[in-house]
Amino acid sequence: MFHGRGMSKLILVSNRLPIKINDSGEVERTTGGLASALEGAGIKGDFSWIGWGGICEEEIDDIESYEKKLAEVGVSPVQLSSDEIDGYYEGYSNSTLWPMLHYMVDRAKFSPDWFTCYRQVNEKFAKTVALHADEGGTVWIHDYHLFMLPALLKEMRPDLKIGFFLHTPFPSSEIFRALPDRHEILEGMLGCDLIGFHTYNYLRHFRSSLLRVLGIEDGADGIYHGNRFVDYGVYPIGHNRVGFQKAMETDTYKEALKEHAERLGDGKLLLSVERLDYTKGVPQKLEAIRRFLESNPDQRSKVNFVIIAVPSRVGVEEYDELTEIVQREVGAINGDYGEVGHSPVQFLHRGFPVEELSAFYALADVCMVTPTVDGMNLVAKEYIDCKRKKFGARAGVLMLSEFAGAAQEMSHALLVNPHDTHGVAKTIEEALAMTDDDMWNRVRAMQARLSRNDAGAWAKLFLGDLEKSGNNENHPNAHETLAQVGDDVSARIKKGEKIALLLDYDGTLRAFVDRPEDAVPEQEVLELLGKFGDHPNVHIAVISGRPKDFLEKHFGHLNIDLVAEHGYYWKRITESGEGEWDVLDKRADTSWKDAVIPHLEWAVTLTPGSEIEEKRSSVVWHYRRADPEFGLWRAKGLLSELTSTTASLPVSVHHGQKIVEVASQLVNKGIAADQLIQEWRPAIAVAAGDDQTDENMFSLTPPENVHLHTVKIGEGSTRAEHRTTISGLRKFLKSLANQL
Ligand code: UDP
Repeated sequence: MFHGRGMSKLILVSNRLPIKINDSGEVERTTGGLASALEGAGIKGDFSWIGWGGICEEEIDDIESYEKKLAEVGVSPVQLSSDEIDGYYEGYSNSTLWPMLHYMVDRAKFSPDWFTCYRQVNEKFAKTVALHADEGGTVWIHDYHLFMLPALLKEMRPDLKIGFFLHTPFPSSEIFRALPDRHEILEGMLGCDLIGFHTYNYLRHFRSSLLRVLGIEDGADGIYHGNRFVDYGVYPIGHNRVGFQKAMETDTYKEALKEHAERLGDGKLLLSVERLDYTKGVPQKLEAIRRFLESNPDQRSKVNFVIIAVPSRVGVEEYDELTEIVQREVGAINGDYGEVGHSPVQFLHRGFPVEELSAFYALADVCMVTPTVDGMNLVAKEYIDCKRKKFGARAGVLMLSEFAGAAQEMSHALLVNPHDTHGVAKTIEEALAMTDDDMWNRVRAMQARLSRNDAGAWAKLFLGDLEKSGNNENHPNAHETLAQVGDDVSARIKKGEKIALLLDYDGTLRAFVDRPEDAVPEQEVLELLGKFGDHPNVHIAVISGRPKDFLEKHFGHLNIDLVAEHGYYWKRITESGEGEWDVLDKRADTSWKDAVIPHLEWAVTLTPGSEIEEKRSSVVWHYRRADPEFGLWRAKGLLSELTSTTASLPVSVHHGQKIVEVASQLVNKGIAADQLIQEWRPAIAVAAGDDQTDENMFSLTPPENVHLHTVKIGEGSTRAEHRTTISGLRKFLKSLANQL
C-alpha cells in the first residue's frame, strides 16, 4: 500500500476531472481508468483531484455553488473560459501535440497564440495546485495537456514531490524536434522528480530529445537538471481488472452474452473497439477487411466484423471527416460483399457500458486492435482478460498492431503491421483457422502477465518510485552550501589567516563554447583574479587542462600561479612577483604517445566534427562539434580500445566533457593541488572544478590544520562537498574579493 508523505494527501492532476453531472443535476464522481487504478493501489479516497470540470466558465451560473458541489466529491476545478478551451485544449493539446506525439506531423497545426494560451492555462493549473497542496505533499500529473505544469509548479512549490506520467507515445526526436516549442515542453517536464512512460521506446526517444534539443547527456535512469535529480522510468499501464471482474458478475453481462450468442449462431465474431480517432487505423483496417472478403468468398456469410467506434471529438472537422470516410467504406463493403439478411461489417457508432463491452469481448473469436500508433491500448488487455471460461467466454485470438504500446507486453498475440493491409488480411485467415487449444494457450500466457500488472499494480509501482525519487541517497550528493563556505572564508580573512584558491578554468571560470580558442577569460574574471593575486594573504592558482601558452597569454600578466596540462607544468609566483614555467614532476614520461595517437587519428577519420589536441603531457580527442549521440558512441568505442592498448603504458585514460584524454601518470590536478597546498600551508583552501579531472583535487587529503572546501560546478556525480554553477561561483568570488 502506498503511504503518502506524512499526513499529506496525494493530489492527482489531469486535464479533465473524473466527474459527471447526473440526471438530477448532482455531481458524481466517475470511475475512469485512473480512479480505479488508484483504488486498486489501495488508496481509495485518500487523494484529491484537480482538473477542468468540462464546462466552460461562461456557462456556469453560480461558480461558488458549482465549486462547492465539486468540493463535496473531493475535486477542485480549474476554471477555463471558452477562449482558453479553444487555445489550450482544442488548439495546442489536440491539434498540435496529439498529432505530433503520434507521428503525424502533417496533421499538426502550429500557432504561437495556442502555445501562449497553453502556457497560461498550465500556469492556472500550477496556481490551483500550489494553493491546495499540503506542505511536502505529493502531486501526480497526467498527460500531454500539462507538459509545462511540472516546472511551473516546482518553481512555486519546491517542497512538493512531483510525478508526471505520459499516456501517449513519446515520438522519435526526429519528430519531436519539429515542434516549435520543443525547448519549453522539455523544460516543463524536467520540473518533475519522476517522469513515467508506457514503454522503453518512448523513454529512449525522450532521452534522445533531451540530448538533441537541450544538449543534456543523461544517465540510465535519470539526469541532473539544475541542482535536482530527475528520475525516469517505464511503467506500462494495466487495465481495470477488478472493474471487469465485477462487470462480468452482473445480470446485464449475462443477458448481453446470451443475446449476442443467439444472434451469432455459428457465425464468427471479429470485434474491434476504439475511439474513432485517426491514430486508430480504422480506414486501414477496413481495407484489410475488404481484401479478406474479396479473397475468401466462402467466409462472407459466416463472418461478422463488429466495429464499435466510440464517437470522439464530434464537431471537429477532421474527426467528422474520418467518421464519414469510415461510414462510407462500411456501406461500400457491405454493398459489395453482403448477402440478403447478412452484412459482414456492422458499424456501431456509440459507446457501451463495461457490462455489455465485456460480453462482446467474451464472445469475440478475434479482436482486431490495429492502431497505426497508440500509447498503450487497453482494449487489447481487456479482451484477453475477459476470456474467462467461468463467465461463459469463448476461445479467441488477439490481433495486435506492432505500433501499440501493448505489443511490447503481449507477445502471444498475432502481431500485425496495420499499414500492410495484405498482411492483415492474411492474418485474419490465420486467426479464423486457429484451433481452440492454440487460442486458449495464448490467452493463458498473456493472462498470467495481466493479472500481475493491472491498473492498481501500475499506480502502486509509479507512486512507490515517486516516493523514492529525488532522494539524494541514491545519487551523488554535493549540496548548494557554498554560502556557508563564504562565511567561513571571510571570517578567516578578517582574522588575517592565509587562504588558498585552486580554480579550474573551462566550465568553472568560463562557460564552454563551440571553439575552445574562443573561450577567453572575461574582463571581470581577470580583475577578480588580479585582486586576489595582489593580496598578501591569498594564494591563488588557475589549474587547467589547457596548454601553458594559452594560460600565459591570458593570465601571464597577473600575480597568480598557473598550472597547465592538468598539472604537468607549473608557473610559480615568487615573493618578488616573478614567475617561471617548470615541469612539476620530472619523472613524468611521455614516450607512450606514439602508441596512442594512431587510435585518436582513426577516431577523427571516422567521426566528422572531431579533432585531436596534442599537449606536452597528454593527447586529447575532442568531439564537441560532432553529432552528440554519434560522438558519445564513438567515445565509448575509443575508450574501450584505449583501455586495452594502454594497459601496460604509464598513462591514465579519462572521458571528460566531450573529450577523451590520455595523460601521463604522475600528472593530475590532485597531485598538483596537493603540492601547492603543501607549499603554501593556508588555513583554508577552496578547490573548484567541473569535470572528472577535478575530482582528483576533490579527493585529496589535505595536511592537518588545512581546511579544504571542494566545490563542483554543474551537474553530475562528484566527490565534492558543495555544488554550484559558473555564475554561483562568480558571485562567491566577488563577495570574497569585496571583503579583502
Ligand atoms: N470503452 C468503453 N466503452 C466502449 C468502448 C471502449 O468503455 O464502448 C473503453 C475501453 O474499455 C477502454 C477505453 O475505452 O478502457 C479505451 O482505451 P484505450 O487505451 O484502448 O484507447 P484510448 O481511447 O485511451 O486511446
